[in-house]
Amino acid sequence: MIDRACISINNRCNLSCIYCHFRSQEKLEYLHDKDMNVYKILDNIKLHIDKLNIQGFKLGFVGNGEPVLDFDALKGYIVYISDYLYNGKIKAYTITNGTLVTKDHLEFFRNYNVDVGFSIDGIPEIHNKWRCNTHNIVIRAINDYHLINGCYPSMNCTVGADVLAHYEETIDFFVPFDSKITFSRMIGENGITLSEFHQFIDKAKLRLKVRTGGYDCTMYGGKCGAGINNIFYANGCVYLCGNCVDLPPIAEYDTELDAIKPDIPFFDRTNCYKELYKNTAIKR
Ligand code: SF4
Ligand code: SF4
Repeated sequence: MIDRACISINNRCNLSCIYCHFRSQEKLEYLHDKDMNVYKILDNIKLHIDKLNIQGFKLGFVGNGEPVLDFDALKGYIVYISDYLYNGKIKAYTITNGTLVTKDHLEFFRNYNVDVGFSIDGIPEIHNKWRCNTHNIVIRAINDYHLINGCYPSMNCTVGADVLAHYEETIDFFVPFDSKITFSRMIGENGITLSEFHQFIDKAKLRLKVRTGGYDCTMYGGKCGAGINNIFYANGCVYLCGNCVDLPPIAEYDTELDAIKPDIPFFDRTNCYKELYKNTAIKR
């Protein structure tokens, strides 16, 4: 049963982080601004929730770009599902690079029970190298979040070779916030191996609240959840996950959720389906 979805409301970003896999040539040719009526997607999600009486459908406004760049559109979508947000049938979140988000935005998200996560790669020396010298700006936004919500937000940190080389400083950086941290493995040409990533996660777990999850994604330290209960909307189509936008879509965006039945073969879920597919170990 699908009880999680992410919607990429845009394919654009105001930054150009060095490791951004959405900006890689491999992905760029697949990312097009095709017509996608997000309100139709939200109608289908609400229908699905009501039909199956789902409580806490997890909905991420996250994807191939910076959601706050299209804040007015995002605001419209959130208001449209506000009754489901207030009664807890939908648990919504977004993740921002923290460079455009204002106190007014943060107050809006709080008022509608939408969680906001911030991407920050730990210490300034590493974050600034990979994420366009934005550490100060992101910290300012995180402090604004604290002022408005009385606690620090969840944070997302990409783990590459620099973080591995400075793992203690990276972990020290996150300790004072006492919030949930999602580490994701850097992939692509600057990527690290799964085993290096797991070794880091094991150390981080000793001192931080690390989000890993079960059948979710190997990039976050869990197992591959492709095709189980989670779908990703982008470019007018539905995909297995955000990293699979260069694989064949599994449905058109306006398909009712009941009718979305990913047909993927059995595989060892400690591996990434996408990597197996690309390495031709799996063919659909
Ligand atoms: S903020 Fe995110 S989407 Fe934007 S360039 Fe950086 S990694 Fe890519
Ligand atoms: S296919 Fe790869 S990127 Fe997608 S959910 Fe599975 S592990 Fe994550």
